[in-house]
Amino acid sequence: MKVAIVGAGFAGVATAYELASQHHEVTVFERRGSVAAEGSFAQTGLLAACAPLPWGVPGLQRQRLAHWVRPDGSIRASLTGVLAHAPRLWQLWRAGKLTPGTPRWSALQALAHASRQRVGELTLQLNLAYEQQSGGLVLLAEERQVAQVRAALAETSGLAQGLKLLDAEAARALEPALAGDWPLRGAVQLPSGMVGNGRQLAHLLKTHAQKLGARFLFDTEITALRGGSSPSLVPTAGQAQPFDAIVVCAGMGSRDLLATARLRLPLLTTWGHTLTAPLSHLDGHAPVGPRAAVVDASSGIVITRLGQRVRATGVTQLGGSTQDLPQAVLQQLYGALERAFPGCAVTREAHHWKGPRVRAPDGLPVVGPCSVPGLWLNLGHGPFGWALACGAAQLLARQLVSHALPFDAGPLAAKRLG
Ligand SMILES: Cc1cc2nc3c(=O)[nH]c(=O)nc-3n(C[C@H](O)[C@H](O)[C@H](O)COP(=O)(O)OP(=O)(O)OC[C@H]3O[C@@H](n4cnc5c(N)ncnc54)[C@H](O)[C@@H]3O)c2cc1C
Repeated sequence: MKVAIVGAGFAGVATAYELASQHHEVTVFERRGSVAAEGSFAQTGLLAACAPLPWGVPGLQRQRLAHWVRPDGSIRASLTGVLAHAPRLWQLWRAGKLTPGTPRWSALQALAHASRQRVGELTLQLNLAYEQQSGGLVLLAEERQVAQVRAALAETSGLAQGLKLLDAEAARALEPALAGDWPLRGAVQLPSGMVGNGRQLAHLLKTHAQKLGARFLFDTEITALRGGSSPSLVPTAGQAQPFDAIVVCAGMGSRDLLATARLRLPLLTTWGHTLTAPLSHLDGHAPVGPRAAVVDASSGIVITRLGQRVRATGVTQLGGSTQDLPQAVLQQLYGALERAFPGCAVTREAHHWKGPRVRAPDGLPVVGPCSVPGLWLNLGHGPFGWALACGAAQLLARQLVSHALPFDAGPLAAKRLG
């Protein structure tokens, strides 16, 4: 098949690789000058073989939602922003109730599992060299959290997520540089948890997709889509180009682009922040900074190691733009980093980034066909796009040629959004 892909973030590049490896004739259209230049640029890098956080850890979901509303909480939103997005926020809040064992939970769990497995396979098969460390802990600072997680894990033990509750001593053995005065009560170890530089992986996968014949057209924005038996797309200052299928992986550009084909999806864009700094004392003997990833269950702030750098991520903003990086948010990230791993970063050399997370109101990604013939979707991965990209791409490649699917992907279908 002759397939066009719009967008070369994680979703688009992974899809290009999977389709090219199935001998489809693939062309990728990207408005930026390279791959992973928008939402996939400087993201945290955490992935694991379990339903992604916070839903991945039973017992913590409601807590995290409660933290949103505190003044130093993990969500920043103006009143007008909240009012403008009220219906979608309400749905997202309800999605926090995602219950283990339900079809939606199972689909997300299966996708995360398949994706983690695929990242491992591709890394080995293609001999991909990118910054990566295995490990991932959700740190619990309150006895109440430990009790809640213990109870929830016991209840859902039959569902074998592979999550493991550790005591503080065992957790410190895995992250020995964690500050002695960080009030650690326990931690949840993520199954096959890892931190990986997704942007590096995207560049490598792009090269492999090109070797398989995929074409990447950069600085090429698509302004309109038309569905039908021979769907077409229109690049800026260009003519409509027909394909057998068009896969939309356009991140925050998806909503407007799909509207040109009269498909209106209720996608919500929020913003996340990262600060990245070189690790200090590289030649010292004492461990410096995190070994892999630690997530503070209370604040949701994540601290990861990427090669010789450390990255702190947190605070979701509703509304705003890429340019507007609030000082208060950065102070929150610097504070969390210093509390957890004092002196580990050369902060005068830190870089700050703000990136979009695009999600459907129920928090699940949208993967598969849609009501417009010829158009396929792989988008709305929200805070989990790196963790889900390779699995979602594999799933879409199977759906495109009607191969049997490895799990029930119904809950990921676009038709659930009306
Ligand atoms: C701060 C932060 C931390 C994160 N941490 C993690 C994490 O630890 N683990 C995890 O799994 N996920 C994480 N994520 C989420 C993850 O980064 C995203 O889900 C993922 O990058 C989305 O990839 P994508 O390909 O769907 O979108 P994008 O990477 O945004 O790619 C979409 C591409 O489409 C292009 N495009 C848009 N419109 C058009 C058009 N009309 N024509 C041509 N091209 C177009 C854009 O230029 C862009 O390159 C994080 C996100 C943020 C912001």
